[in-house]
Amino acid sequence: MKLFQCQNCNHPLFFENDTCEQCGYHLGYLDSTFDLVALGPDLADWTIPKAGSHRFTYCKNHEYNACNWLVPKTDATGFCTACKLNRTIPDLGIKKNLKKWKRIEVAKHRLIYQLQKLSLPVQSKLYTENGLCFDFLSRKGAGANAKTIMTGHANGVVTILLSEADSVLREQMKRDMNERYRTLIGHFRHEVGHYYWERLIFSDEKILDDFRQVFGDERPSYGQALKDYYKNGPQKKWRKNFISKYASSHPWEDWAETWAHYLHILDTLETAYYFGIKVKPDLSNKKHMKMKSAFDPYNELSFKKIVSKAIPLFFAINSVNRSMGIADVYPFVISKAVIKKMEFIHGVVTKDVALN
Ligand SMILES: [Zn+2]
Ligand SMILES: [Zn+2]
Ligand SMILES: [Zn+2]
Repeated sequence: MKLFQCQNCNHPLFFENDTCEQCGYHLGYLDSTFDLVALGPDLADWTIPKAGSHRFTYCKNHEYNACNWLVPKTDATGFCTACKLNRTIPDLGIKKNLKKWKRIEVAKHRLIYQLQKLSLPVQSKLYTENGLCFDFLSRKGAGANAKTIMTGHANGVVTILLSEADSVLREQMKRDMNERYRTLIGHFRHEVGHYYWERLIFSDEKILDDFRQVFGDERPSYGQALKDYYKNGPQKKWRKNFISKYASSHPWEDWAETWAHYLHILDTLETAYYFGIKVKPDLSNKKHMKMKSAFDPYNELSFKKIVSKAIPLFFAINSVNRSMGIADVYPFVISKAVIKKMEFIHGVVTKDVALN
């Protein structure tokens, strides 16, 4: 994520801020320019010199403190690019739901920021047939159907269970599923990976062929593959070829898991770049363990270069976390086979799909 500062007083800001703590100006995020704009001291509608003659106002979800993005005043929906994708939000009449939904929105907005940085199509399924939309659903009150509601993706609809925004329940699931990492942003990145598989891979015969060479043939039964996975566990020696156990269940899940990790890496490296982070460990052989965040990963064509920076960075951040008694921020080993898969994803996303 980019590092922002107040355009009025230079105070450093987070992506989610809607007011500058130092000067009191209202702040709004303009996704067309990736800027957090200092709007002024009064709540009104605003013109933004960089964005032409439109007048802008906050997205409708700002009234719940769930969004700080800007929308042209003429937009009939009143929702920003990220909130136009919401098909179902939780019942806000239930007190606890608002808190959970706001956490979901933080992760979702960060996801959309990243998809836009990659120039991926972000269109709402509510207005475009092959677009994307979100259902944020609770099992509570769903009656007999409750058990069928699951976090997942089908045909452009990403469902996120509201309980994933409850850190206690999420930790419990993480333990029950024997997982190393479980977060809201991780869910979003994984599920949206299934959507982009349909848009970027399945829709192009040549790319689909290349996909099968890298990830394997996805045509054998998905349902059976998952049944086998839950019955027998992951493939033996999964670490050599997959980023996670679950990735070894079926090529679709391998793609979604690897895609999520690809997005994890880009976001982390972008943050490191904006902070000017360098890692130069006190090791006698630091050749592969030092890094300097000298480039924005979203502008870098070589994925090898990106991953060579990510590995020492994760090693350093994991070590800092251990100093604080917190779990590793990135508890995974990226094998050569996984790097090849991420290189393929990077090629598809940057439209440079020649395999090497
Ligand atoms: Zn300020
Ligand atoms: Zn919004
Ligand atoms: Zn999946």
